[in-house]
Amino acid sequence: MTTTVTLGYPRIGRSREWKKALEAYWRQALDAQGLYQVQQAIAEDAWRTQAQAGIDRIGVGDNALYDWVLDWALWLGAVPERFRPWSGLERVMAMARGREGVPALEMTKWFDTNYHYLIPELTEDWLPANFQEFRERAIAARAVLGEKAVPMVLGPATFLTLGRALAPKTELVAALLPRYVQLFAELQAAGFREVQVHEPALVMATGTELQDLCTALYGQGRGLAIHLQTHFDDLGTNYGWVTALPVAAIGLDFTRGENLRLVQTHGFPADKTLGVGLVDARNVWRSRPEAIENLLTALQGATTAPLAFQMSASLQFLPHSVVRETGLPAPLRRVLAFADEKLAELVALATDRSAYGSTVAQDWAAFVEFRPTNPAIAERIRNLKPADCQRSLPYTERLAHQPQLPPLPTTTIGSFPQTPEVRNLRRQWKRGEISEAEYQKAIDAEIERCIRFQEEIGLDVLVHGEFERTDMVEFFGQQLAGFAFTEHGWVLSYGSRCVRPPIVYGDIWRRGSMTVREFRVAQSLTPKIVKGMLTGPVTTLNWSFARPDLSRREQALQLALALQDEVADLQAAGAQAIQIDEPALREGLPLKKERWDEYLTWAVEAFRLTSAIAQPATQIHTHMCYSEFGDIIEHIEAMDADVLSIENSRSNNATLFEIADAGYRYQVGNGVYDVHSPVVPTTAQMVAQLREGLARIPVQQIWVNPDCGLKTRQWDEVKPALANMVAAAKQLRTETVLVADGDR
Ligand code: GLN
Ligand code: ZN
Repeated sequence: MTTTVTLGYPRIGRSREWKKALEAYWRQALDAQGLYQVQQAIAEDAWRTQAQAGIDRIGVGDNALYDWVLDWALWLGAVPERFRPWSGLERVMAMARGREGVPALEMTKWFDTNYHYLIPELTEDWLPANFQEFRERAIAARAVLGEKAVPMVLGPATFLTLGRALAPKTELVAALLPRYVQLFAELQAAGFREVQVHEPALVMATGTELQDLCTALYGQGRGLAIHLQTHFDDLGTNYGWVTALPVAAIGLDFTRGENLRLVQTHGFPADKTLGVGLVDARNVWRSRPEAIENLLTALQGATTAPLAFQMSASLQFLPHSVVRETGLPAPLRRVLAFADEKLAELVALATDRSAYGSTVAQDWAAFVEFRPTNPAIAERIRNLKPADCQRSLPYTERLAHQPQLPPLPTTTIGSFPQTPEVRNLRRQWKRGEISEAEYQKAIDAEIERCIRFQEEIGLDVLVHGEFERTDMVEFFGQQLAGFAFTEHGWVLSYGSRCVRPPIVYGDIWRRGSMTVREFRVAQSLTPKIVKGMLTGPVTTLNWSFARPDLSRREQALQLALALQDEVADLQAAGAQAIQIDEPALREGLPLKKERWDEYLTWAVEAFRLTSAIAQPATQIHTHMCYSEFGDIIEHIEAMDADVLSIENSRSNNATLFEIADAGYRYQVGNGVYDVHSPVVPTTAQMVAQLREGLARIPVQQIWVNPDCGLKTRQWDEVKPALANMVAAAKQLRTETVLVADGDR
């Protein structure tokens, strides 16, 4: 039987115990010891589950307190000066969430996933490495798993690539190398014989320093078997030197990219184990037996290396188990596989492939019969013309028709705090404890409070607050055909934040208007402009599990057609501004630059198809968070959105400057309030940030807003923060230079 290998497991707990524990700790309702106990219990469940499924080599050590990359920054000693006043858990939380006057580490997407990691800041000034916590985690796992426990290490090339280099690369390499040597020595001394070194960055990064770093580190051969793990794409031009590294095994992802072609072209060294990442840890579907057979036949023809069967990546991107999803239709349920089902599948593939193949083939056939199809949608997509994606007037000509606002107009990104009362309301309604009318009445009361608050503090463009939405994607998916929803299918997004991605399983179409009622309620309460709020097609697709049998482009265009009808309805209901959020546009970028254009072309096409129906007078906003724009700016321009609001406060204006430097012509909402931190920004801070921006971008182009939606914040944080934000805009408006040319 072929050896089976896993590369990580969900760490949020089957019933989101980790989320609950972390949040309780932050509220001071749980102490540090209580938090560690929950962490331990979840880790033990992960180990036992994998062992019981029959996995041979189980990756351990990923049970992070906040984020795995943050763990490694701490252990390796990459702790910026400003966090050193704290130690232990307090330091972890300071780095993750910031403290009064001490900004947190910046956060960004983990490769092309919807998980976020904290970006290590790499200076010349390191603390001594300390791997005690990691060793303890690995040893605790070994106590349960014995030799099956394989410590998982975040590799130096990836750490370096993901970190923000604030010192010359050569110096950082010189700092990192001895730390990893020390780590391997400590693991060996603790009795470990094998270690997984995760190096996903090798699928995208290049540079001789990475090669030098890896060669120097692994060239020193010491008793520990290094299993180098790469995932999310193929090794590309790094294939040659990576496969030549003196390591015991190399894991490759065969579910994405061109690794098979690379193995066929260049061979794979017979003296190393090839970890065949054949079970897709990024989608929720059971493997198609034909695809697996073809892959294995091809590999056996290309190399004589011993094979291990493994997950394509960590299972952290999947929910725990399909078993509890009894609400899903059976034909769909039978072709779904979450983390636990993937474990079973990996073992089945390693033991009896033909038995696996025959049951799954039947289930797939039954599913294809069952799933929703709509030939009219496919037809509409086939007949799309360029004009369908083009607004009737160009930006400069539309401007005069659009709302006239004071200089530095203020707005928010859409959501306001989702209080326990709001969540409870939704729960009661779902359980049938209150009627739909009662539910709507209560939501309307929230909308009214929210509108009154925004009027009171003097925001210029208002929102209804999104109280009726659990999640920005789920809310739309639930109203569209073609989406399925789980009850317990949570995956971690960042910190304690979990999302429950919908599953696209058939054609997508709109059954009726989705947002118009709440918009009307909000707009009826105020003479100010209320923005209609939609989640864009690209984000909806990127934050869902896509169907495996239709191109992503086509799925995005189906969504765009549905949303276009919604834009038309909002406009007919009187919306003068409509925001189409695309926070996930960038994270959908393929890891390899050569595939960017293809993706961006259809992504922009889908956005334009959604928005092109807007009248010139309708101001189209879009919002993107955690984005770098420099390298995709022409595509952002091509979206042709009148206003783009960005996350900007944690990056010290770097995001805004990127846009400014690229000569972006449209309006930009400068995110001045870090909504991922509980800290209330002062007016002076926001004035300073805005002033810096104004020095580089014409005032007519700048809006003032928070970095993102306020849904996860508390009202008592949001109220002073937004009041300060409005005060900052007002203060700047009175400065003569702005008044002089501030006439929009
Ligand atoms: N409109 C959404 C909100 O305010 C946008 C969230 C996001 O960008 N992630 O919550
Ligand atoms: Zn956002």
